[in-house]
Amino acid sequence: MLQHYFDNFFLRFSTESFTTDWQRLEVGIVTGCTISVVLFATAMNLIVKSAEKTSRGPKMASGSIQPPTRAFMDDMTITDKLYVEGRWMLQDIGEIITWARMRFKPAKSRSMVLRKGAIQDSARYRVCDQLIPTVKEKHVKCLGKWYRGSLSDKESIADTESQLKDWLNQVEKCGLPGKFKAWIYQHGILPRLLWPLLINSVPSSTVEAMERTINGFLRRWFGVPKSFTSLGLYCTKSKLQLPLKALTEEYKVTKARQVIMLRDSADEKVREAGVKILTGRKWKAEEAVKDAESRLRHSDIVGTVTEGRLGLGCVTRSQWSKAGQKERRTLIQSEVRRTEEEHRQTKAAALGKQGRWLNWEGVQQRKLTWGDIWKTEGDRLSYLLRSVYDVLPSPVNLKTWGLSDNPECKHCGRPANLEHILSSCKTFLKDGRYTWRHDRVLASIAEPLDHARRFQKNKEKGVLFIPFVKEGQTG
Ligand SMILES: [Zn+2]
Repeated sequence: MLQHYFDNFFLRFSTESFTTDWQRLEVGIVTGCTISVVLFATAMNLIVKSAEKTSRGPKMASGSIQPPTRAFMDDMTITDKLYVEGRWMLQDIGEIITWARMRFKPAKSRSMVLRKGAIQDSARYRVCDQLIPTVKEKHVKCLGKWYRGSLSDKESIADTESQLKDWLNQVEKCGLPGKFKAWIYQHGILPRLLWPLLINSVPSSTVEAMERTINGFLRRWFGVPKSFTSLGLYCTKSKLQLPLKALTEEYKVTKARQVIMLRDSADEKVREAGVKILTGRKWKAEEAVKDAESRLRHSDIVGTVTEGRLGLGCVTRSQWSKAGQKERRTLIQSEVRRTEEEHRQTKAAALGKQGRWLNWEGVQQRKLTWGDIWKTEGDRLSYLLRSVYDVLPSPVNLKTWGLSDNPECKHCGRPANLEHILSSCKTFLKDGRYTWRHDRVLASIAEPLDHARRFQKNKEKGVLFIPFVKEGQTG
């Protein structure tokens, strides 16, 4: 049936001006055909497996032996312990591939011989009598990651950093209002940054430096001063929350996910490989995952607790011990986020002025969505942010910043901080200036009421009788 199915494949091509004749397809995979893909993968698997016999494959640091050949569709990676073994294997595979009427492209392939951690230039590989270029000669990019002769990600990281700056500068110049630029960061730049951060071994301190660059731009776009704390931009438990995501938080979540993905993989070989996720000295992904797990186990022991003023049982949590593989992954990720938020809270507690909102009792949290931000004008948004974190140019702040000499209120002589100006100046209270707007509204309501009351006065006074209509009478 398969033979019959693949026997008569015809295709033709159309350009703008003409269409070719029907051509018979002899080699290749037809787009949209489900069978040929499966067949191709099966055949490739057979070829790969048949070549494995000659070699034992590399031994990892964890002690496990990995298969010498790894393939994804038509891409193949061959790793061997000895240079000679590699050559035998290439020869074998070359023969099988030629038998299968396929062809290697040596120019598109790369080879690398390592001895004591350094690349050997003298040892070269050939396939079908053609030389394979080494990684040193020609760099190669696979799934967005560059493989270079230096065997490190330093250049890739530097590229990512400069690209981030380019992107931010381009957004800066686009002439849109600041809130739109912030939206572009959140939905355009951030997701594109996360992939290079995942595939390269980027130290956490580098990511922090990148975040500082981003913070500078975000501050400008939201119209807040340079002294505005970055906690104000990303805090998720403060009194005013913005819909922005911090790069470091996303980076940590991504790395934690990578750790779990490799450690709990369904593939035995991946699980055993013991791949180390390098994230620098400051923060370690493996430790963060372990921390998150022990925290989750601990909260299992503690059980459900109340949160805020809600009653017991209003907030439910999923049990770590009963969670499945997938649920555990999401639980760990949210736990990593929670840890980040806790760090932010401790930082906020150390800030005398901009962390004062921690002591505000009875103030409702406000969560700004993108929808809210669209509706708010730029100046108002800036005012809102600056008033919550007390960085408005009040006389006291101006004195602190060294921009004026007199921190006192012009009306009552007390220090005029934000609270004083907004609600507690004695002179203003006496004059009724704080309640002026409120009183105006009340006055406009009171006026018609008063009018109605006076109108009622003019009515006749005394008892009013309702004449009773007897049976047979007319009213
Ligand atoms: Zn005053």
